[in-house]
Amino acid sequence: MQKELTYDAVMSYSGHPSADDIYQMISKEHSSISKATIYRNLSILSDEGKIGRVESFANGEVHYDHRTDKHYHGHCRKCGRVVDIDLSYDNDFVAKALPMEDGFSITSHELIFEGICRDCREKEKKNGTEGIKN
Ligand SMILES: [Zn+2]
Ligand SMILES: [Zn+2]
Repeated sequence: MQKELTYDAVMSYSGHPSADDIYQMISKEHSSISKATIYRNLSILSDEGKIGRVESFANGEVHYDHRTDKHYHGHCRKCGRVVDIDLSYDNDFVAKALPMEDGFSITSHELIFEGICRDCREKEKKNGTEGIKN
């Protein structure tokens, strides 16, 4: 039942929540559920392929995703938000890599685009004009 709650929370989240975002969301209505339980359920659900997981950020952040199909992500360097990038997933990308001499066998790939999200750009713009006025 707690696993279902966790699943529903990820599905109803429009973006790419962190485990803490999901915990905040669930604990509003179910204050008895522990953070550890939610974190554990998130990792089980993503291992089972029921929800997506986005990781490999330099700072070790993990975000979850209601989408489970393969797609690329963008990462805001200012606020850490994760967005979907409108670029079709290249299934042939792995085949394009030359065989590795050290025997490393590539099984899949992931791409994370770094950038600045709209909210952060608007904030910057606003601060920029205020800066000029003052
Ligand atoms: Zn941002
Ligand atoms: Zn996504």
